[in-house]
Amino acid sequence: MDGKGNVAPAIGIDLGTTYSCAAVWRHNRIEIIPNDQGNRTTPSSVAFVDAHRLVGDGAKNQLAMNPANIIFDAKRLIGRRFSDSKVQEDMKLWPFKVIEGPADTPKIVVTYKGQEKEFLAEEISSMILSKMKETAEAYLRQVVKDAVITVPAYFNDSQRLATKDTGTIAGLNVIRMINEPTAAAIAYGLDNKSDIVGKINVLVFDLGGGTFDVSVMTIEKGGIFEVKSVAGDTHLGGQDFDNRMVDHCVLEFKRKRNKDLTGNQRALGRLRFACEKTKRILSCTSQTSIELDCLHEGIDFSLKFTRAKFEELNMGMFDKCIAILETSLNDAKMKKSCVDQVILVGGSTRIPKVQLMLQEYFDGRRLCKSVNPDEAVAYGAAVMAAKVSGSIDKSVQDVVLHDVTPLSLGIQVIGEVFSVVIPRNTPIPSSNAKEYFTTRDNQSCIDIMVYQGERSKSTDNHLLGKFRISGIPLAPKGVSKIMTCFEIDANGILTVTAGVISTGKMEKLVISNEKGRLSKEEIEKMVNDARKYKFEDKEFKKKADAYNALEDYLYKVKNKIKEYKIKKRVRSEMLKKMKNAIDETTKWLEDNQAAPFAELQIKKVHLEFVCKLLF
Ligand code: ADP
Ligand code: MG
Repeated sequence: MDGKGNVAPAIGIDLGTTYSCAAVWRHNRIEIIPNDQGNRTTPSSVAFVDAHRLVGDGAKNQLAMNPANIIFDAKRLIGRRFSDSKVQEDMKLWPFKVIEGPADTPKIVVTYKGQEKEFLAEEISSMILSKMKETAEAYLRQVVKDAVITVPAYFNDSQRLATKDTGTIAGLNVIRMINEPTAAAIAYGLDNKSDIVGKINVLVFDLGGGTFDVSVMTIEKGGIFEVKSVAGDTHLGGQDFDNRMVDHCVLEFKRKRNKDLTGNQRALGRLRFACEKTKRILSCTSQTSIELDCLHEGIDFSLKFTRAKFEELNMGMFDKCIAILETSLNDAKMKKSCVDQVILVGGSTRIPKVQLMLQEYFDGRRLCKSVNPDEAVAYGAAVMAAKVSGSIDKSVQDVVLHDVTPLSLGIQVIGEVFSVVIPRNTPIPSSNAKEYFTTRDNQSCIDIMVYQGERSKSTDNHLLGKFRISGIPLAPKGVSKIMTCFEIDANGILTVTAGVISTGKMEKLVISNEKGRLSKEEIEKMVNDARKYKFEDKEFKKKADAYNALEDYLYKVKNKIKEYKIKKRVRSEMLKKMKNAIDETTKWLEDNQAAPFAELQIKKVHLEFVCKLLF
């Protein structure tokens, strides 16, 4: 609500691994919300520098200077366990520290105000969401409450739930979560409304900074979006390309200088920053070079980088993208010749080789670049936000979305076999029930282990949670029947209910309450912490403003006093008094860089009082 009692419209947020973007549906169209720097996307980074916190552009700019305290990639940790092999792999590349927290949760360690502090990935992501919320509030001049947040189509249940928690911590009411490629297709559909005749098949190819997503969908005239299949890799994107480049540079440094810089986090931070920039340049020129002064032990680094080298280093990953795309088409039972449009989303689709490989795969077909690859996801999310929050706009109301579940869901049965209850690519919301039998004589209890994944051995999949059904009436094996019911809501989140048919006693697994997930109390604590940080950030800004104001005033009076000396309109003892006050304040400011807001204010008021004759 604002002062006039207006409720801010619900916004759409693309919470990306590397960049985030917010948009809103207003005045019958989508507006991408620029941040305080005027940028339409905001780096998903948080920096802890001395006694203050920076989020977004400010944080990214610190990367080369203070790598251990700049957190990025939190999305890669979200909803994952510390022991996850992907987490273990990533940790080797991150300049910041990650440790094992309770219940196998990863925790990020930073030094803040001279003390070590631990954060969950959800907390870091919530800081980014808060920043997006504030950006939108400044833009709309209203308090933003409701939001649609996007997630990679391939996110599993824990990752989705963790993302939802992230929204709550940031003080947002997450009215819906939609898949990123679906959001991009909505953007395309709305932008190309007049060109869509009947029903068309589209393939959304979203290659971003951290994740890769493909969706095969149909768009029907009028705005019906139906997802046929999704596939992807939550660990494939621009940062992997950067890492390959960094590895290459490290090898070159070793080869040329015989020095190993792998232990030098600052050097690695600078290299990563330079490699990302080089990668972008190589998307429009065929050759460039990396030059870094005093990279390691005072030795400079210089390397010519060609586009061909970049492609060679990353070819394996580009091939993987095409293989995943094929799976998605197979799952949708669609021939590649039936795809009418290939929509490019995500910053990494600007890589010429990726475009070329796609074009070749689709036999020379032109790729659709009409939607902005950085903004399409937020655009679609904002359309959905308007729809879910009841916008009366016809083009928004006409949007109908049929999404699918990205991974198969089921339980473990005897011999660690994975028994699927809801297969992947089933339209959601959806529910299905399956019966199971006891496997031992007089079995009185049974553990229901819920997994998500595509492997036939249950333990190769992702364990979402488990619960016990007890009080089964004693009977020979195979007599007592257990009913299991799986339900997926529109956000793709699962609830499992199971019970003994003969007794009618049911148990429910709400995965959000499972061990390893955040409890209500933990979320509340984080919400409070988030408020605290916001307060601290504000205080810091207040202090910085007061500091600048005093410095500014000093500068002004120093100039003024020179003029007065010439004109000599002021008595000399008065002039002396002013000069003393100026010198004293200048010295005080130099010695008290970290002075609190109130002292800065007092000093300024005092100086203004003494020097008022000057103005
Ligand atoms: P995410 O959604 O994962 O946050 P984005 O879609 O914002 O990612 O894409 C960011 C990624 O795109 C980064 O890895 C960035 O380096 C890469 N990128 C941006 N522009 C280019 C370009 N011109 N050439 C190659 N890669 C690019
Ligand atoms: Mg993205």
